[in-house]
This record gives sequence, structure tokens and C-alpha cells, in this order.
Amino acid sequence: MTTSPLFYQAGPAMPEVSHGQGVFLWDTRGKEYLDGCSGAISCNLGHGRQDIRDAMTAQLDRVAFTYRTQFENAPAMALGNALVEMTEGALKKVFFVSSGSEAVESALKLARQYFTTRGEPQRRHFVSLRPSYHGSTLGALGVTGYQPLEAPFADITSGSLKVPGPDFYRRPEADRETHVRRVLDETRERIETAGGDTVIAIVVEPVGGASTGARLVDRAYLKGLRALCDEFGCLLIFDEVLCGVGRTGRWFAYQHWGVVPDLLTTAKGLGAGYYPVGALLCREDIVETVMAGGGFQHGHTYAGNPLACATGLAAVEAIRREGLLDNVNARGRQLQRGLEALKARHDWIGDVRGLGLLWGMELVMDPVGKTPFPADANLFARVTALAKEEGLLIYPRRTLDGRAGDHFLVSPPFTIDEDETVLLLERLGRALD
Ligand code: PMP
Repeated sequence: MTTSPLFYQAGPAMPEVSHGQGVFLWDTRGKEYLDGCSGAISCNLGHGRQDIRDAMTAQLDRVAFTYRTQFENAPAMALGNALVEMTEGALKKVFFVSSGSEAVESALKLARQYFTTRGEPQRRHFVSLRPSYHGSTLGALGVTGYQPLEAPFADITSGSLKVPGPDFYRRPEADRETHVRRVLDETRERIETAGGDTVIAIVVEPVGGASTGARLVDRAYLKGLRALCDEFGCLLIFDEVLCGVGRTGRWFAYQHWGVVPDLLTTAKGLGAGYYPVGALLCREDIVETVMAGGGFQHGHTYAGNPLACATGLAAVEAIRREGLLDNVNARGRQLQRGLEALKARHDWIGDVRGLGLLWGMELVMDPVGKTPFPADANLFARVTALAKEEGLLIYPRRTLDGRAGDHFLVSPPFTIDEDETVLLLERLGRALD
């Protein structure tokens, strides 16, 4: 037996990947997999794209890396402008990074510096949701609400005030409005207890990803958060690392509800799986304040390098050129119908939720009590393994703190066609049966 120098999470022995094309991957034994989760919800355009390859090699032929303090670079400028346009001009400043964690880390630090520059150094708390996932670096982990990840580091991260987000599947209240009001009231109470003038920002994912199985918010909730931020003078940060750049059928998920954040993070799909690139999008005056106060004391070596930005630009241009947001919406509706049909077949599928091509399924022991399966049943891992046997990749998560069921994400590339969506549903159906 050869031993591997790589160490990640312990898991079953994995096949070795050979190559990919479109929504499919093949292993070295010739088995085909439909990539039903776009890698890690990152390969938004599918595999083996000639146009992305061409854009990358053209940039490589010119120069791969230049440092942002030494040269302006055209791809960074063009991608920056494209991102601003994608927010319809609501957020006018862009800070590039190389991952989602870096984007969140940058947002937290820019927000803090905004207030220290304005003479409000007493603002030191972030508010975020439990459950949530915002990244693995210490700052991003501090605002993450997922106990197994937090536990080993809880006393060395800056932490945050953790509040519940809306959970329309498990809400105890009779109607959504009352539920949203209660969740917002709890958030207000936490802020008031800590002191309204000590809060820097509220951080939230408009559509939950891995941590919640695509839990949704609604307009009333986001409007309520916006109102709380305005009242207490803190910032609203949307983490769209996973749900941004078209995944939900709009460029950014917040555009479904029309509530604009002060800062927005994105990454994953921006490089479409071809190169790491992420971005922090900012309200212009926040950046102006920080820059006038001596500049942002933060940065990453690879941030905004020409190859990263040329890749991101090619990905955004492909989505535009091919009208892929329309396909995300059309295939999303087809997927929703199919997932709901599967739910009707199995009463242990508790919930189907999502938007565009970001769908979550939550699995529970009984549909009435919504009791989660015991963690040691490892249901999420079993379903994922069965799907893989059937030739389908899905994105699983473990039971969260015993309060929600196992769940997984179905989030294929934006390029998936009607027949491939049928195939995805057939393979998932066989795995669930
Ligand atoms: N925020 C969200 C919402 C995410 O889904 C993720 C990654 N799953 C991150 C931040 C961290 O991104 P990365 O893994 O690229 O550091």
C-alpha cells in the first residue's frame, strides 16, 4: 500500500479523476459521474471549457503574475468594472482576493477599520447566524456558526454574537411574518445587550450554503436586518461566496429581495473552478473613508493577479454571452419539480428548498416531528456514497448540532441542459430509493 502525503478529512477511498467535459467527470477506470454539485459549488461553467482555457493561455502568454502595487493590470480593471456593473452600480469598489475565507476576512477588517478611522474604536462585535459558514481563517471562523468547526478554536478567534436566522422549515410560529419578527427581535436584543454602538456589522448569507442546506431568507427579514444596521449605525455584510455570481439565477442573490448590503463577498464560482479568485465589493464612501485615513491595512500576495482576473473575466463573459442566467432559472425550475417529486416518494425527505441552481434537501426521521437522524447514522455520507455509486456527485453536510437534519446540496453547473437534468434526477432517485 502506498501512503499519501496529503491529509484532508478522513473518508472512504476515492477514485482518481481522469478528465472532465461539460457536466461530466470520468475516473481513471472509465466510470462517469454527473457533477451535480459543480465540484464545491465552484465549477459553475462545467469542465473542459475551451473559452476559459483560451483566455487563461492568452494571459499566460503575456504575463501570469504582477504585483498590484507595481502595475495596473487590464484584466483586474475589466473584472472590477464587470463586478460593479453586476451590482447595477450599488457597490462601486472592488478588492480582489484568492478565496472565500480571504474575502470574508477582508470584509471584517475593512468594516473594523472604517469605524476606527471614524473615531469609533469601541465597535468590536460582529453579529452572525447560527448555523452559518463563512470560512476557515480565524476571523472568518469567528463569525461562523457551526459548532464542530468552532470548538477547537473558540477561545482564540474574535468570535461574534450568534443569533438565529429564519428557518421556514422548522419555524414554531404559525406564519412566516411572526417567525421573521421573532428572529429579528432576538437579533435586536443581542445587539442591545452588547450595546448598539459596539457592533461593527451583521454578516449573513442571503441563501445558505453548506451549513444550512440552502436555507432561504425573505424580503422582510433582509429589510429588518437593513433597518437594524441603519438604526445602530453598523454595516450589513452579505456573504455571497457560494450563492453569488449567478448561482441563484441573478448575478447576486440579494437582488431577489432588493435589499442592498454595504459590503459583499464573493469567490467560488467567480473563477469557475479554473483559478482561485474572489472579491470584496464595497460601498464607495466606506473605501474612501478608510483610504483617506491612511489606507486599508490588509492584503494578500496573489490578490488580483492578472491570470486570476483574466480567468474570472472569461467566466463572467461566458455567463453573459451564453445567457446562462436564463438557463439557471429554467433548469432550476425543472430541478425543483424533480426534487419535489422525489420528496413525495420518501417521507424521510423533510424539505426541498433553494433558488436557481442551488438546491438543498434535508433528511429527517419523521416528517411530522422533523427529528434529525442520529449523527452516528452518518446518513449524509451514506446518501453521498450511494449517489456516487450511481454516477452522481452531490455536496453533503453533517447533522448540525443535532438541531437540523442531514442535508445535501444539488447545484450543477449553469450549463446543464434539460436531458442532463433528467439524468441527474434519475441517478439521485435511484440513490435515494
Ligand atoms: N463563505 C461561504 C458562504 C462559503 O460557502 C465558503 C466556502 N464553502 C466560504 C465563505 C469560504 O470560502 P473558501 O473555502 O474559498 O475559503
